[in-house]
Amino acid sequence: MRRKLVAGNWKMNGSAESIRGLLQGIRDGAAGVSAVELAVFSPFVYLAQVQQQLHGSAVAWGAQTLSEHASGAYTGEVAGPMLKDFGCAYAIVGHSERRTLYGESDQAVANKFAAARKVGIKPILCVGETLEEREKGITESVVERQLKAVLDLEGIGAFGEAVIAYEPVWAIGTGKTATSAQAQDVHAFIRAKLAALDAKVAGQTRILYGGSMKAANAGELLAMADIDGGLIGGASLEAKEFLAIAKAGC
Ligand code: PEP
Repeated sequence: MRRKLVAGNWKMNGSAESIRGLLQGIRDGAAGVSAVELAVFSPFVYLAQVQQQLHGSAVAWGAQTLSEHASGAYTGEVAGPMLKDFGCAYAIVGHSERRTLYGESDQAVANKFAAARKVGIKPILCVGETLEEREKGITESVVERQLKAVLDLEGIGAFGEAVIAYEPVWAIGTGKTATSAQAQDVHAFIRAKLAALDAKVAGQTRILYGGSMKAANAGELLAMADIDGGLIGGASLEAKEFLAIAKAGC
């Protein structure tokens, strides 16, 4: 049985003060949604604060990206061992904003996935098609290509612990959500691809949906057989809404 994971990607939002309130609200409400695992992804500079406020709680935390490298002359980058120092359990890799705005290739994403695992951080690998790709009917081949880069480097065994997030790019931050049937189709496709390599691992891998998920649509999405949680952007910036999404998955 896969325990659902509801993960909040705060992106480049917040301040020390707003994050204090948000963390407090999530920490206070976590007991009411204990059937679901919660995790938050703050900007790097607030990770110490996140660690301090969530220490000893059931809420996990992580980073929104990480360097492919463990240390060295990479100005502005943050390495896996540094994230480990701040108690990160997870790191998002290959978010569509990183792929499109910062030119991260499938290979770079795979390298980041490996860098996280090397220090015992569970990667959350984001995959997903653009609107143009969906309209061309190539959603599955795009997702397969993104997945293959990681499978080629790290192998199927890595997905026992790692998480996949299917995030159709056209649904991120747009208010347009994939229907539960559209999302389930792609999730089932991903799981079948993993199962062709190892059925046991495929049965363990958590596949999250991301793209304008909110309390109002979470129940329907989280009820689908292959949707094991959500990666939430905008709606994770308010504790009440974030916890309501988690509640829908209980
Ligand atoms: C995301 O950025 O991963 C995301 C799903 O954003 P939103 O929920 O705002 O669409």
